[in-house]
Amino acid sequence: MLRMGLQRDIDLALHLPLRYEDETRLVPISTLRDGQTAQVEGEVVDNRVDQRQRRQLLVRLDDGSGEVLLRFLNFYGSQQKAWTKGVRLRVRGEVRHGFFGREMVHPTVKVVQEGTPLAASLTPVYPTTAGLPQSYLRKAVASALQRAPLHEVLPPGMVPRGWPTLREALHALHHPPASMSAEALEAPHHPAWQRLKFEELLAQQTSQLQARGERAHLKAPVLPTRPGGLQERLLAVLPFALTGAQRRVVEEIAQDLNRPMPMHRLLQGDVGSGKTVVAALAAAIAMEAGWQCALMAPTEILAEQHFRKLVGWLEPLGVKVAWLTGSLRSKVKQAQLAAVASGEAHLVVGTHAVIQEQVAFQRLGLALIDEQHRFGVAQRLELRRKLEAQDLEPHLLMMSATPIPRTLAMTYLADLDVSTIDELPPGRTPIVTRVFGDARRPEVIERIRDEVAKGSQVYWVCPLIDETEASDQAADEQAGRASQRRAPLDLSNVTQTHQELSEALAGHGVGLLHGRLPAAEKAEVMAKFSAGELSVLVATTVIEVGVDVPNASLMVIEHAERFGLSQLHQLRGRVGRGSVASVCVLLFSAPLSDQGKQRLKAMAETTDGFEIARRDLDIRGPGEFMGARQSGAALLRFADLMADQDLLDRAREAAETLLRDHPEAARQHIARWLGGKEEFLKA
Ligand code: ADP
Ligand code: MG
Repeated sequence: MLRMGLQRDIDLALHLPLRYEDETRLVPISTLRDGQTAQVEGEVVDNRVDQRQRRQLLVRLDDGSGEVLLRFLNFYGSQQKAWTKGVRLRVRGEVRHGFFGREMVHPTVKVVQEGTPLAASLTPVYPTTAGLPQSYLRKAVASALQRAPLHEVLPPGMVPRGWPTLREALHALHHPPASMSAEALEAPHHPAWQRLKFEELLAQQTSQLQARGERAHLKAPVLPTRPGGLQERLLAVLPFALTGAQRRVVEEIAQDLNRPMPMHRLLQGDVGSGKTVVAALAAAIAMEAGWQCALMAPTEILAEQHFRKLVGWLEPLGVKVAWLTGSLRSKVKQAQLAAVASGEAHLVVGTHAVIQEQVAFQRLGLALIDEQHRFGVAQRLELRRKLEAQDLEPHLLMMSATPIPRTLAMTYLADLDVSTIDELPPGRTPIVTRVFGDARRPEVIERIRDEVAKGSQVYWVCPLIDETEASDQAADEQAGRASQRRAPLDLSNVTQTHQELSEALAGHGVGLLHGRLPAAEKAEVMAKFSAGELSVLVATTVIEVGVDVPNASLMVIEHAERFGLSQLHQLRGRVGRGSVASVCVLLFSAPLSDQGKQRLKAMAETTDGFEIARRDLDIRGPGEFMGARQSGAALLRFADLMADQDLLDRAREAAETLLRDHPEAARQHIARWLGGKEEFLKA
């Protein structure tokens, strides 16, 4: 629970259900509708293992009114034995009308006696992580709810009449009476949700308003743009002209750098919009003025690529670029650190290692963070602390491809200025996306053969099997920890595919890339692919962010149904970077859920990151509120930036009043909602 940030009673009390399960009643099997999620109870009349296609357990259940087929693609022998003929089962799941009549795939199953009592109220389903069972979480939440201090801290009049108190709202949402329907509770405009969202937005707005006030007193070096300086010289050697959008954002950044107050700016632009060169131009201004710059990326692969690119652009102009990652040998590292400390290195590129303890800058003037949403909150905080340690604070530019519409970003991220690159470099041919069932895999491999014969390069992306492990691994990479120490991941998918493609494409180089390879090997594989020595790169999502090989024109994503929309968008952004027409093939394995279908359809219909973010929201629907649950960038758990605009406006006004007229209430409110975490919002 600590891992989920559930530390204090109030944190648990604010850990609200994602949705509810109605286990208060049984539905007659004969009345089940297609797509309905329902609980039924009956007797097993048949139980067998089908071997014909994929090995699966089929159980037929009869409740007197009709029959339903229960289908299990993964099962234990013990389950097959326990759910035998004549046994009574209570099951809950989504109904489909398939070829063999009504069925449920992987319902939850309980063996019961006749007359086993039903639940008295709706059962909350909490967001959880692997290994933390719902039953345990339910008990912990229920007892924390009793202990948590929930007295009113907001002044009278700030909360609209007709809304419940915080205590009432929480009780209603955690323990809804049986009379309340799950639909009503999951609806985002239920007054209990309104109250919580308002409280949350208010805490966030108040703390940001405070932070902005504090930042206004900080001092930063003034970094003017010199005519004929490094920035102009860099522009002159670039192999392309900037787009209008790039010119505009460079200008916005240049103006910030020329002020004595630290810049705190987010540069957002869809994948492939050309953020890196903007960062390089900003760095050029700072270096020309005699200050050092640091560029930090979330993975070694990405950092390495930036390093190469920046060395290529800047070293001929006399800039010395240092390289820092967790995996450097200590001797090399010492040398790099010394160069940074003496000021000999003007620019430092690397992973999270760039901000670790031992790194001392001579004069850091500008910090650049790429794919900032990929950094953990703790790391962003560490960076800020490092920056604050100097007497002059450096300027800060963060980059992200996660689109937040501009107006929302400005209101929501009240302490952040936003620049948006809303134009792609010219000459890109749009990516065509195709959605295929697994059965067409051989055809896809044929296509790859044609592509590599023409000299194009291909990515083949495989998911990792265990999702929790995968996110741990991402966190690991971010923290720059050696990945070899950790338990083995299930890499069978990616290694098998690598094997298969190596055989099918004999004579062409097929590389393998995943998070568990030693850093040096990862770098080598990536370098070979960039140089065109490998035709195909079979990889896990380690290539998700930022990797840039313009000659790659085909991407195949295997098990595309297992990826989130924004992740698919990021992955797909690895192709379509050159002038050749690019194709992205999404392979899925049946059966696809409705959501899965909609997701893949959305991918096929648009390549616009903003549109994809919007569809993602539509598809997820109520109950799954966007915010922190989706991206680390936002720390909102309940409120929804797009749908709750009116609450946001209300919260913004209230925040001003609260800070101005009720500073003690403001303090208490922030402490309740953010705990020790108010710093996170500044990160
Ligand atoms: P992202 O915004 O996703 O970080 P990159 O900075 O990696 O995008 O840029 C994508 C590719 O486009 C790179 O190969 C880069 O050199 C190229 N590029 C950037 N700006 C332009 C431009 N104005 N004209 C042509 N190519 C550009
Ligand atoms: Mg990038």
